[in-house]
Amino acid sequence: MDCIFCKIARGEVPCDKVLETEGVLAFRDINPQAPTHVLVIPKKHIRGVHEAAPGDGLEELLLAAAEVARQEGIEKGGYRLVINTGQQGGQTVDHLHVHVLGGRSMAWPPG
Ligand code: AMP
Repeated sequence: MDCIFCKIARGEVPCDKVLETEGVLAFRDINPQAPTHVLVIPKKHIRGVHEAAPGDGLEELLLAAAEVARQEGIEKGGYRLVINTGQQGGQTVDHLHVHVLGGRSMAWPPG
């Protein structure tokens, strides 16, 4: 499958790995938007939450995002989890991913 995040999950494309569990991989974003910017992905190819079903590991995905925040030391100060979905949602890679952003104050609403 010609999906960049699938290739990263299979180890065919290198990444700066932060955390790995049986079903989830977390790695640093190549174009960071905050001092901490980590992407958490399911290893299985799912385009977005709308395609996910019970058993697809969404709980594992969110728990891994929380663990990343803990590891990165941004848990206490606060951080933001973002799932861009679809064209108007700003999704550019069609493989479900949670952005873990922290280390600076976040604005609201997002642009
Ligand atoms: P989104 O726009 O929400 O789909 O987010 C996709 C994110 O993937 C962007 O923040 C990109 O910088 C990031 N990205 C794309 N290719 C790679 C890669 N090979 N390694 C790490 N991050 C990537």
